[in-house]
Amino acid sequence: MIYIHIPFCRTFCTYCGFYSELLCRGTRKDKVLQPFCKALENEFAARKSGLQDGPDTLYIGGGTPSVLPFSVLQTLASLFMDEGRPHRFREFTVEVNPEDIVSGGQDYAEGLLSLGVNRISMGVQSYDDGILRWMNRRHTAGGAVEAYRILRRAGVENISLDLIFGVPGMGHGLWKETLGRILDLPGGMPEHISAYQLSVEPGSALEKMMARGRCREVGDEECRLQYMTLCEVLGNAGYRHYEVSNFALPGYEAVHNSAYWSGEPYLGLGPGAHSFRIDGDRRTRSWNRPSVEAYLSAWLSCRDDAETDIMETEELTQEQAALERIMLSLRTDTGLPEPELLRLAMPGQVRKHLSAGTLTRLPDGNVRIPESGFFISDSIIADIV
Ligand code: SF4
Repeated sequence: MIYIHIPFCRTFCTYCGFYSELLCRGTRKDKVLQPFCKALENEFAARKSGLQDGPDTLYIGGGTPSVLPFSVLQTLASLFMDEGRPHRFREFTVEVNPEDIVSGGQDYAEGLLSLGVNRISMGVQSYDDGILRWMNRRHTAGGAVEAYRILRRAGVENISLDLIFGVPGMGHGLWKETLGRILDLPGGMPEHISAYQLSVEPGSALEKMMARGRCREVGDEECRLQYMTLCEVLGNAGYRHYEVSNFALPGYEAVHNSAYWSGEPYLGLGPGAHSFRIDGDRRTRSWNRPSVEAYLSAWLSCRDDAETDIMETEELTQEQAALERIMLSLRTDTGLPEPELLRLAMPGQVRKHLSAGTLTRLPDGNVRIPESGFFISDSIIADIV
């Protein structure tokens, strides 16, 4: 499993706390992209021997990977070649924003497929122009529909859409309308939907707006109602709710993300990217410092100390590894084996939640949080660890 982080965006969204840098048209773009690709190539060459067994997936995320011109994505994809042809990953996802698909048109979308991309994850967030403006998104609702149409016409058969609920000013009615629009998109329903509750991220514009009293968080009860509507509407439409925030038509569950949740190792490349290694009982997490400048300085010259210069590493304690295992697996609909949960968590608390129905047994012997409890999964998990 390989993840590549593209830390560039054209503008910053109101709610965003991810690491990303502004990529303006013109000079900065020309100056930075070529060396950035070279640095990625050097990092991959130096670290690929550390790639461990796991699903054969590549995920290019960000930031906004679709700000990259096609030629740059082509260069990145060329790092993974099999005898002169693009490597056929089991799953190769690229994150895109609608405005880039509309401006690139069908050629850009077909180009992505020619590189071996077989899954597109598009950040739509809302189908309401007022909400999109509030979010400081660059596309309109019509633009998001047009982008979807372009992807389908190009032949993309696996599309995931990102949505946000719990947004100030978006009442329950508007949320229902949004879900209705998704299910009625041209070219058929998306194969996958990720829906996240708006949260106030440190460093985001939203955090400042809240601090100045220019905006108020939506109450818990309203968010819960929107979440329950999401579950009901998508459930009725045939989606499997396989993780707290993720829904898939049968057979379209994300391979890459599912492997994260089941604790598989992965290699992350690019500024801010995280990696995870398993060596016997040792679990090691590492991450590149989030700075394009530091990344270029470390990897362009490919110094011997490049990796240690840019990377921070942490070995997980047994307690941390147990907590991570519980947190990731109890957010999924498959949960984890009951004996394992009893060993890793507080058995008395686990039994209490089993009696209360906020944990439930599956026929295969696993224990999960039922869908009706997904909205409060964090507090259930906090109560058993
Ligand atoms: S949400 Fe996505 S597009 Fe918006 S600023 Fe964050 S990374 Fe960039």
